[in-house]
Amino acid sequence: MQSLTNRAKTVSNKRMSWLERLYFPAIINGLSITLSHFFRKKATVRYPEEQRPFSPVFRGQHVLKRDNEGRERCTACGLCAVACPAEAITMVAAERKTGEEKLYREEKYAAVYEISMLRCIFCGFCEEACPKEAIYLTERVAHPDYFRKGFIFGKDKLLEPLDKSKRIDISKRVIPYPASIKKPSS
Ligand code: SF4
Ligand code: SF4
Repeated sequence: MQSLTNRAKTVSNKRMSWLERLYFPAIINGLSITLSHFFRKKATVRYPEEQRPFSPVFRGQHVLKRDNEGRERCTACGLCAVACPAEAITMVAAERKTGEEKLYREEKYAAVYEISMLRCIFCGFCEEACPKEAIYLTERVAHPDYFRKGFIFGKDKLLEPLDKSKRIDISKRVIPYPASIKKPSS
């Protein structure tokens, strides 16, 4: 019967010659293909000792940013969690107490902020949804772990260090504000 795609092959049912029945030519042919691969340029890299440069649009482990005064930017509004298609983000909001103004920028902050790296698909929607420029994806690769609970990244792993020299540079990911829109103070 004529196939719809016209790509059907008619299988030959001819008897094998005595040479073909020896199988040696086929084995030698196969080994020569394998051997030829020894002399080709390797397609693999010896990760993690050797690393390939990332694409400029690579999205890796998140960072929770602090402002210039070292205060946490996140105000636990939950917009990132709502935008997350993988439902990877959970948080517990808390009210800032008197005397904590140097720790948290807004009156409400995330006492607990967790991202499940097993769920996250690194789409960057959380970054786009955040009105406070508090969460960004970075070029860092999320560390592997032996246990599932090790993939729940809390503030201990997400929040950037207080030390200004150890802050995470996200300048490549920040979209410049159009001249018509006033940039909020950092
Ligand atoms: S990168 Fe995407 S999947 Fe991962 S936490 Fe953000 S919104 Fe969710
Ligand atoms: S990271 Fe941004 S969007 Fe998410 S809760 Fe904090 S302020 Fe809201």
